[in-house]
Amino acid sequence: MVPAMAGRPFVFLDRDGTLIEDVNYGYRPEDYHPIAGVTAALQRLRAAGFGLAIVTNQAGIGRGLFTRADYDSFHGRLLDDLAAAGIEIEATYMCPHAPDEGCTCRKPAPASLFAARDELGADLEASWMIGDHAKDVELAHNAGCRALLVLTGHGEEEAARLGERPPVAVVADLPAAVALILGSA
Ligand SMILES: [Mg+2]
Ligand SMILES: [Zn+2]
Repeated sequence: MVPAMAGRPFVFLDRDGTLIEDVNYGYRPEDYHPIAGVTAALQRLRAAGFGLAIVTNQAGIGRGLFTRADYDSFHGRLLDDLAAAGIEIEATYMCPHAPDEGCTCRKPAPASLFAARDELGADLEASWMIGDHAKDVELAHNAGCRALLVLTGHGEEEAARLGERPPVAVVADLPAAVALILGSA
């Protein structure tokens, strides 16, 4: 038996409603509104040694509301802004499919986080998923990491529809989630 590599702790980040405002199928330059405090919070996670990756469902592509190229330029702006603040996002796992396409990459399916384990060396048990949807919480449970639900984006409605496997905590926003993670380390 070859012992498993220890792996690194990651914080997996939902995008819309968690890092930037969720404007419903945003892709135009005017749809881009970073949520307050996100940059400083991500800098704190990086300084504490967490890897960062984004996990996002973009069904607007599958529904024909915008193109992959639209997504690439919109998402690239976020990555560029974060990089300019010294924040490396090691991967973005993006599902472009509509819900009825039956793909295996759409949250809450765990394929994205299993890929992070295999490709980035993420230690899922030592990692966290932060998002504003019940399916972000479900994703964490399906992949064996810990979940935090934020109340930005759709978080208020989603907090009412959490299933039998709740998150570790429901917190105001990403900076509050990061404070909790760093406080529990
Ligand atoms: Mg979201
Ligand atoms: Zn998919």
